[in-house]
Amino acid sequence: MDRRENKRRAERVDGAERRNKLPSPASSLPTDPALYSGPFPFYRRPSELGCFSLDAQRQYHGDAQALRYYSPPPTNDQGPNFDLRDGYPDRYQPRDEEVQERLDHLLRWLLDHRGKLEGGPGWLAGAIVTWRGHLTKLLTTPYEQQEGWQLAASRFQGTLYLSEVETPAARAQRLARPPLLRELMYMGYKFEQYMCADKPGSSPDPSGEVNTNVAFCSVLRSRLGSHRLLFSGEVDCTDPRAASTQPPACYVELKTSKEMHRPGHWRSFYRHKLLKWWAQSFLLGVPNVVAGFRNPEGFVCSLKTFPTMEMFEYVRNDRDGWNPSVCMNFCAAFLSFAQNTVVQDDPRLVHLFSWEPGSPVTVSKHRDAPYAFLPMWYVEAVTRDLPLAPKTPSPKD
Ligand code: GDP
Ligand code: MG
Repeated sequence: MDRRENKRRAERVDGAERRNKLPSPASSLPTDPALYSGPFPFYRRPSELGCFSLDAQRQYHGDAQALRYYSPPPTNDQGPNFDLRDGYPDRYQPRDEEVQERLDHLLRWLLDHRGKLEGGPGWLAGAIVTWRGHLTKLLTTPYEQQEGWQLAASRFQGTLYLSEVETPAARAQRLARPPLLRELMYMGYKFEQYMCADKPGSSPDPSGEVNTNVAFCSVLRSRLGSHRLLFSGEVDCTDPRAASTQPPACYVELKTSKEMHRPGHWRSFYRHKLLKWWAQSFLLGVPNVVAGFRNPEGFVCSLKTFPTMEMFEYVRNDRDGWNPSVCMNFCAAFLSFAQNTVVQDDPRLVHLFSWEPGSPVTVSKHRDAPYAFLPMWYVEAVTRDLPLAPKTPSPKD
């Protein structure tokens, strides 16, 4: 496609955005990368508003008790020799994936903190609230060729809430997950255990259980273009020796990947895996991803640090690579599309945005179960505190 055709397409998208401002919103959103290759949009450096933890029983705590400390092995000897299969399956407590938590833990945090948010009381009313993982899926959509997604959206007291819905295909895949894939998932968490300590000065203890109920989540504020964002993401650990002790700059993301031996393997790794790693860490402002490369026997024998801001360099000159501008421009366009589609303020009303690779994003409208996701305890607490109109005193008052 030549540049002029790109421009014409981009103008069509601009036109679609303008039409969105009129009463009848666009009914779908295209996802072709060529439509979103403009300059990189404004993205405010994410700042941490707070955090929470989930314990071994998946119970919420409004503190950093689940935060772990980056503790890599000494670099003087031959390098690591982590057996990622150790403890599987006898020391593995996997989280119950049948439990759909939706935005619940984040809403619990928000309920406790919404009165003291910086930006004043009006800030939240103009913001989008979601998980970082949902935004990651939006960022990678123009390049995704395998897995679709569904995002449920509700507007409540101005705020737009976005919560993922597991697609029927994703559910079927999860229920039929092959044993080898289950073990691979365990190995990713086991790597974290080899690399993290429970206290700043201490060493990792790989003898214990791997319990994936436990999570430390950072809550951040940012802005993409004109879209104010409040989102939360799970953070693997903090580096006590990081140049900046201020979150999220001290956070480290840990990943495992297959050991690679041919240039073609690396190319494919840069094109596919590094895109996902970049999107996830860039959104939250995590500066470094530490990868452990495992051999066919499941041992990590080498580590490599990938600075988030350098990941694009690996595909900058690759015709089949990804472009951060496309990811961020598409995300901004989706958020505009959602803002313009979800007009009615009603916590029981859901606009379900659906996407499958090769197609545009489409939308359908639903009320109450099964798609409504803002819990009654949240809606009632917020409604109690912020009545829309002052109540006239009743004779009993
Ligand atoms: P990520 O970027 O995909 O890891 O997702 P987030 O960092 O946004 O995580 C948000 C919350 O969802 C955290 O409490 C995670 O523990 C949880 N979470 C992460 N991955 C999954 C998943 O595959 N399924 C479910 N149900 N929850 C998940
Ligand atoms: Mg990780």
